[in-house]
Amino acid sequence: MKLKLKRRDFLKGAVALLGTLSLFRGVKIYAKVKDSKEGVLDQNVRMLKDLERALAKPVEERKWGMVIDVQKCIGCRACVVACIAENNLPPGVTLRQVFEVEDGEYPEVKRYFKPTNCMQCDDPPCVKEVEKVAPGAMYKRADGIVAVNYSKFKDKKAFEVAQKACPFHALYWDTGDFYTKGTPSVQPYENRKVTEFNHEIKKGRKEAFGRKCHFCLHRIENGLLPACVSTCTGGAMYFGDLNDPDSLVSKLVKERKTYRLEMLSVKPRIYYLHGKQEDVEELCGQCHG
Ligand code: SF4
Ligand code: SF4
Repeated sequence: MKLKLKRRDFLKGAVALLGTLSLFRGVKIYAKVKDSKEGVLDQNVRMLKDLERALAKPVEERKWGMVIDVQKCIGCRACVVACIAENNLPPGVTLRQVFEVEDGEYPEVKRYFKPTNCMQCDDPPCVKEVEKVAPGAMYKRADGIVAVNYSKFKDKKAFEVAQKACPFHALYWDTGDFYTKGTPSVQPYENRKVTEFNHEIKKGRKEAFGRKCHFCLHRIENGLLPACVSTCTGGAMYFGDLNDPDSLVSKLVKERKTYRLEMLSVKPRIYYLHGKQEDVEELCGQCHG
């Protein structure tokens, strides 16, 4: 018997097959999410709860820290874009970088992405050096964030000293320039003010000054995760209170094998999961700062 397959039947069959395949794919993806300890959404909800607990304590009892899982980072740089947008940064400046790292030799080569930002070091060389030229311009807050006093950090010399001292090239010179300058009109989103360490920053101003990552302090104090963490498409970023034994960051640091980029004994507050502890200079060969 000859099987007559009409064009419409064929299309119906193809659609059904695709549907079945995508269903399987969906099941596979769901299984993967379920297999990993927590899905991205659950992870972020949990970190928001951790944040709530930390904010209920006095500031000196909080110890902000970050964990980055390089195995989950897909190098999309959505976190970099989020950082630029959140902090209304000018062209050429981001408080965060995602490096590409090669590990091993052919044929055993691994390649992965390594996101970095200011490590909020517990023994920060930037603060020590700036103290010599502009006392009080940079300081360590009680919660561990390395802060800037903008009324004292306007001098380019102070910035240069801090930048030179930082092994991670984590400071940037902000001229207050616009992305949309030279277009028919500067866009309103570039004209908004941002507040950093109680200092209002606006583009189009006369003076330039140094800036660095502040773990999005203005967000965390309002119960929100840093912009890079809540934007991360790979679920590679973790943030919370290292003083709280029940926080996700504390559990990761305690239960998993983590390492820090600490060749210079600066005691960074950022821990990494997977990947290797690269030579910082090698990594910063890709720095734009
Ligand atoms: S990473 Fe650099 S800028 Fe940040 S605290 Fe450490 S030395 Fe200072
Ligand atoms: S958003 Fe997440 S996955 Fe994408 S580059 Fe940044 S850290 Fe990596």
